[in-house]
Amino acid sequence: MPTSVPTAASLTNAAKALPRSFPTDVVHFLENVYFGNADLLLVSNFLEAAKTLAAAPNFKAMKNKQQAELHCVRCHDTFTAETNGPTKCVIPHVFDTEPTFTGEVSGYEKVYGYKAICCGSVELEEEGAGNDEYRNLKRIGHCYKGYHTTDAEEVEDEQEYNDVNIRRCKLDKETKECMVLCIDGENPVFDWQVPNTSDYDDDDDESIYL
Ligand SMILES: [Zn+2]
Ligand SMILES: [Zn+2]
Ligand SMILES: [Zn+2]
Repeated sequence: MPTSVPTAASLTNAAKALPRSFPTDVVHFLENVYFGNADLLLVSNFLEAAKTLAAAPNFKAMKNKQQAELHCVRCHDTFTAETNGPTKCVIPHVFDTEPTFTGEVSGYEKVYGYKAICCGSVELEEEGAGNDEYRNLKRIGHCYKGYHTTDAEEVEDEQEYNDVNIRRCKLDKETKECMVLCIDGENPVFDWQVPNTSDYDDDDDESIYL
Protein backbone atom coordinates (compact mmCIF):
# COMPACT_ATOMS: atom_id res chain seq x y z
CA MET A 1 0.00 0.00 0.00
CA PRO A 2 1.50 3.37 -0.99
CA THR A 3 2.01 5.87 1.80
CA SER A 4 -0.40 8.73 1.42
CA VAL A 5 1.36 11.98 0.53
CA PRO A 6 0.09 15.12 2.24
CA THR A 7 -1.04 17.96 -0.01
CA ALA A 8 1.18 20.99 -0.61
CA ALA A 9 -1.58 23.17 0.84
CA SER A 10 -1.73 21.30 4.13
CA LEU A 11 2.08 21.34 4.38
CA THR A 12 2.13 25.06 3.62
CA ASN A 13 -0.24 25.69 6.51
CA ALA A 14 1.81 23.51 8.84
CA ALA A 15 5.04 25.27 7.77
CA LYS A 16 3.44 28.67 8.32
CA ALA A 17 2.31 27.57 11.77
CA LEU A 18 5.91 26.79 12.78
CA PRO A 19 7.09 29.51 15.13
CA ARG A 20 9.82 31.66 13.58
CA SER A 21 11.77 31.19 16.76
CA PHE A 22 11.99 27.42 16.21
CA PRO A 23 15.74 27.14 15.46
CA THR A 24 16.49 29.40 18.44
CA ASP A 25 14.11 27.34 20.56
CA VAL A 26 16.01 24.16 19.68
CA VAL A 27 19.32 25.74 20.71
CA HIS A 28 17.76 27.02 23.91
CA PHE A 29 16.34 23.56 24.59
CA LEU A 30 19.75 21.91 24.19
CA GLU A 31 21.56 24.50 26.25
CA ASN A 32 19.15 25.01 29.07
CA VAL A 33 16.99 21.96 29.60
CA TYR A 34 17.95 18.81 31.41
CA PHE A 35 17.07 16.24 28.78
CA GLY A 36 17.36 12.52 28.20
CA ASN A 37 18.28 10.40 25.19
CA ALA A 38 14.73 10.50 23.86
CA ASP A 39 14.93 14.30 23.64
CA LEU A 40 18.32 14.12 21.92
CA LEU A 41 16.94 11.70 19.33
CA LEU A 42 13.99 13.99 18.60
CA VAL A 43 16.31 16.92 18.01
CA SER A 44 18.64 14.78 15.90
CA ASN A 45 15.76 13.56 13.71
CA PHE A 46 14.51 17.08 13.24
CA LEU A 47 17.94 18.38 12.22
CA GLU A 48 18.55 15.45 9.85
CA ALA A 49 15.21 16.06 8.16
CA ALA A 50 15.97 19.76 7.77
CA LYS A 51 19.40 18.97 6.32
CA THR A 52 17.96 16.46 3.85
CA LEU A 53 15.35 18.96 2.69
CA ALA A 54 17.95 21.73 2.28
CA ALA A 55 20.10 19.42 0.15
CA ALA A 56 17.26 18.31 -2.15
CA PRO A 57 17.90 19.55 -5.75
CA ASN A 58 14.54 21.29 -6.13
CA PHE A 59 14.95 23.00 -2.79
CA LYS A 60 18.45 24.16 -3.70
CA ALA A 61 17.24 25.46 -7.07
CA MET A 62 14.52 27.43 -5.29
CA LYS A 63 17.06 28.95 -2.88
CA ASN A 64 19.43 29.91 -5.70
CA LYS A 65 16.59 31.68 -7.46
CA GLN A 66 15.56 33.45 -4.26
CA GLN A 67 19.11 34.64 -3.66
CA ALA A 68 19.97 35.64 -7.23
CA GLU A 69 20.83 39.34 -7.54
CA LEU A 70 18.16 41.26 -9.41
CA HIS A 71 18.01 44.83 -10.66
CA CYS A 72 15.05 46.98 -9.70
CA VAL A 73 13.69 48.80 -12.75
CA ARG A 74 12.15 51.48 -10.53
CA CYS A 75 14.87 52.54 -8.04
CA HIS A 76 17.84 50.81 -9.81
CA ASP A 77 19.04 49.18 -6.63
CA THR A 78 20.12 45.54 -6.41
CA PHE A 79 17.87 43.17 -4.52
CA THR A 80 17.01 39.50 -4.13
CA ALA A 81 13.59 37.87 -4.13
CA GLU A 82 14.42 36.67 -0.62
CA THR A 83 15.01 40.16 0.77
CA ASN A 84 12.30 41.96 -1.21
CA GLY A 85 9.40 43.33 0.80
CA PRO A 86 6.60 45.92 0.85
CA THR A 87 8.84 48.75 2.10
CA LYS A 88 12.13 47.90 0.33
CA CYS A 89 11.81 50.05 -2.78
CA VAL A 90 11.97 53.60 -1.45
CA ILE A 91 12.31 56.69 -3.61
CA PRO A 92 12.41 60.16 -2.04
CA HIS A 93 10.67 63.20 -3.52
CA VAL A 94 12.86 65.65 -5.40
CA PHE A 95 12.23 69.31 -4.65
CA ASP A 96 12.72 72.44 -6.69
CA THR A 97 15.84 74.24 -5.43
CA GLU A 98 14.08 77.62 -5.64
CA PRO A 99 11.92 78.37 -2.61
CA THR A 100 8.82 80.50 -2.81
CA PHE A 101 7.46 82.52 0.10
CA THR A 102 4.24 80.89 1.26
CA GLY A 103 2.91 84.10 2.73
CA GLU A 104 3.06 82.53 6.17
CA VAL A 105 5.25 83.64 9.06
CA SER A 106 6.22 81.43 11.98
CA GLY A 107 7.69 83.34 14.91
CA TYR A 108 10.36 85.58 13.38
CA GLU A 109 10.79 83.39 10.31
CA LYS A 110 9.05 83.50 6.96
CA VAL A 111 7.90 80.09 5.77
CA TYR A 112 9.14 79.04 2.35
CA GLY A 113 7.91 76.23 0.17
CA TYR A 114 9.82 73.93 -2.18
CA LYS A 115 7.58 72.18 -4.70
CA ALA A 116 8.14 68.50 -5.45
CA ILE A 117 9.09 68.30 -9.13
CA CYS A 118 8.63 64.52 -9.23
CA CYS A 119 4.94 64.12 -8.48
CA GLY A 120 3.95 67.73 -7.81
CA SER A 121 1.72 66.55 -5.01
CA VAL A 122 3.63 67.94 -2.04
CA GLU A 123 5.49 71.04 -0.96
CA LEU A 124 8.34 71.02 1.54
CA GLU A 125 8.04 73.84 4.05
CA GLU A 126 11.06 75.51 5.62
CA GLU A 127 11.10 78.11 8.34
CA GLY A 128 13.51 80.73 7.01
CA ALA A 129 14.99 79.98 3.57
CA GLY A 130 18.23 78.00 3.88
CA ASN A 131 17.79 77.25 7.57
CA ASP A 132 17.26 73.52 7.07
CA GLU A 133 14.35 73.84 9.48
CA TYR A 134 11.87 71.72 7.58
CA ARG A 135 8.60 71.43 9.37
CA ASN A 136 6.77 68.82 7.29
CA LEU A 137 9.58 66.56 6.06
CA LYS A 138 8.36 63.50 7.97
CA ARG A 139 4.74 64.07 7.07
CA ILE A 140 5.51 64.37 3.36
CA GLY A 141 6.98 60.87 3.33
CA HIS A 142 8.40 59.28 0.22
CA CYS A 143 7.48 59.61 -3.42
CA TYR A 144 7.36 55.84 -3.72
CA LYS A 145 7.48 53.00 -1.21
CA GLY A 146 6.74 49.41 -2.17
CA TYR A 147 8.25 46.22 -3.53
CA HIS A 148 11.29 46.25 -5.80
CA THR A 149 10.39 44.95 -9.24
CA THR A 150 12.01 43.64 -12.42
CA ASP A 151 8.82 44.22 -14.39
CA ALA A 152 9.30 47.47 -16.32
CA GLU A 153 5.92 47.03 -18.00
CA GLU A 154 4.21 47.16 -14.65
CA VAL A 155 5.99 50.43 -13.76
CA GLU A 156 5.10 51.71 -17.24
CA ASP A 157 1.45 50.70 -16.85
CA GLU A 158 1.22 52.45 -13.50
CA GLN A 159 2.68 55.55 -15.19
CA GLU A 160 5.34 55.83 -12.51
CA TYR A 161 8.21 56.83 -14.80
CA ASN A 162 8.61 60.61 -14.59
CA ASP A 163 12.19 61.25 -15.82
CA VAL A 164 12.97 62.86 -12.47
CA ASN A 165 13.32 60.36 -9.68
CA ILE A 166 11.71 57.34 -11.35
CA ARG A 167 13.58 56.70 -14.58
CA ARG A 168 13.69 53.94 -17.10
CA CYS A 169 16.80 51.78 -17.04
CA LYS A 170 19.51 52.73 -19.43
CA LEU A 171 22.07 50.04 -20.12
CA ASP A 172 25.73 50.60 -20.76
CA LYS A 173 26.43 49.38 -24.29
CA GLU A 174 29.49 47.39 -23.30
CA THR A 175 28.69 46.02 -19.88
CA LYS A 176 24.90 45.85 -20.38
CA GLU A 177 24.57 47.12 -16.84
CA CYS A 178 22.09 49.82 -15.91
CA MET A 179 23.75 53.22 -15.56
CA VAL A 180 20.89 54.95 -13.78
CA LEU A 181 21.85 55.82 -10.23
CA CYS A 182 19.77 55.11 -7.16
CA ILE A 183 18.58 58.18 -5.32
CA ASP A 184 19.21 57.38 -1.70
CA GLY A 185 16.90 58.24 1.12
CA GLU A 186 18.89 61.22 2.43
CA ASN A 187 16.10 63.70 2.88
CA PRO A 188 15.33 66.19 1.54
CA VAL A 189 16.63 65.76 -2.01
CA PHE A 190 16.79 68.79 -4.31
CA ASP A 191 16.83 68.83 -8.09
CA TRP A 192 20.52 69.80 -8.35
CA GLN A 193 21.40 66.60 -6.47
CA VAL A 194 19.86 64.20 -8.97
CA PRO A 195 21.25 63.49 -12.43
CA ASN A 196 19.13 64.87 -15.25
CA THR A 197 18.27 63.15 -18.48
CA SER A 198 21.20 64.58 -20.42
CA ASP A 199 23.62 63.10 -17.90
CA TYR A 200 22.58 59.68 -19.13
CA ASP A 201 22.63 60.62 -22.80
CA ASP A 202 25.41 59.56 -25.06
CA ASP A 203 26.04 60.26 -28.71
CA ASP A 204 24.52 57.02 -29.81
CA ASP A 205 20.85 57.32 -30.73
CA GLU A 206 20.43 53.62 -30.34
CA SER A 207 20.52 53.86 -26.57
CA ILE A 208 19.16 50.76 -25.04
CA TYR A 209 16.11 50.94 -22.86
CA LEU A 210 14.70 47.92 -21.13
ZN1 LIG B 1 7.35 62.91 -5.42
ZN1 LIG C 1 13.37 49.32 -6.17
ZN1 LIG D 1 18.05 50.37 -13.87
